[in-house]
Amino acid sequence: MPEYMYFCPNCKVTYKYYENAPRTCGRCGNPTIYTGYEESEWYSISKRQKSELLENLKNSEEYQREKENIKEAQAKTKEMQALVETIKCTTGFNFEGYSIVNYFDVIFDEVIVGVGLFKSISASLDNLMSSITGSEATEITEKLAQVKGLLRDKVALKAVKMGANALIGIDFESSAIAGMSLIMISMTATAVKIEPNNK
Ligand SMILES: [Zn+2]
Repeated sequence: MPEYMYFCPNCKVTYKYYENAPRTCGRCGNPTIYTGYEESEWYSISKRQKSELLENLKNSEEYQREKENIKEAQAKTKEMQALVETIKCTTGFNFEGYSIVNYFDVIFDEVIVGVGLFKSISASLDNLMSSITGSEATEITEKLAQVKGLLRDKVALKAVKMGANALIGIDFESSAIAGMSLIMISMTATAVKIEPNNK
């Protein structure tokens, strides 16, 4: 299988990739660019040829463009993350002092976890909490909180992508599947846009 030589002009490091597809540099996050050589050819060209080639790549429009693209994508991701973190959530259907100006959609997501993750428990879900000892209960409660946090972030990201800034009617449900070996925890919420009343 050929390996393709890529280069990060920022770190001056070359990478071997099995696929001829651009990727970001593992060290600095800037794009790597294809040198035009496979590994087998790479070692047959002179040092001077290499440094010239790398200099050209660094100044190429393609590299600058890719760099801009990555910067934009990173900024977008950051912006999204901030929105996900600050999205307002309620199990109710309104926020005091705010009006709902747009309803987007009902969003659903689910996470399936092995009961092993919650230690081996043979009790049914209903008496799960009462049948186990205090420390186990704490551990399970913490794990559940983690799973719910993850679900909330997943749902929030979908909502943010729609242009929503709040989630209403949040509902979590859990059910056992495959006997008792797996637990499915799901979350539904309605994505909305809210605005303060006195703006
Ligand atoms: Zn780099």
